[in-house]
Amino acid sequence: MSFVQFATRDGSPWVPEYLTAISAELCIGCGRCFKVCARAVMKLMGINEDGEFCDPFDDDDGEIERKVMTLDKAGDCIGCGACAQVCGTKAQTHEKLAAA
Ligand code: SF4
Ligand code: SF4
Repeated sequence: MSFVQFATRDGSPWVPEYLTAISAELCIGCGRCFKVCARAVMKLMGINEDGEFCDPFDDDDGEIERKVMTLDKAGDCIGCGACAQVCGTKAQTHEKLAAA
């Protein structure tokens, strides 16, 4: 199988690896990946006691059990890999894109 390939500034081949999933079990919501992403692909969410996603910044009721990063705009990812470099829990899955 061949994959979508681009080039770096000097013409070297660059095969992007796109963010395709973030494990809610492994993610600790540290926000490091969010800070390095220039494409606003991810979004921090809260998880309440029922296991449902909720607004991470509205915890007046104290229902938020923990916070996790989620994949919000997957189609905007350019596959730069910066988020993978800073994730210490291996919560993310990245995949190459099969060439048509
Ligand atoms: S691979 Fe790059 S563009 Fe895609 S989500 Fe990670 S940091 Fe953002
Ligand atoms: S860097 Fe990893 S652990 Fe931290 S918020 Fe992102 S996916 Fe979760």
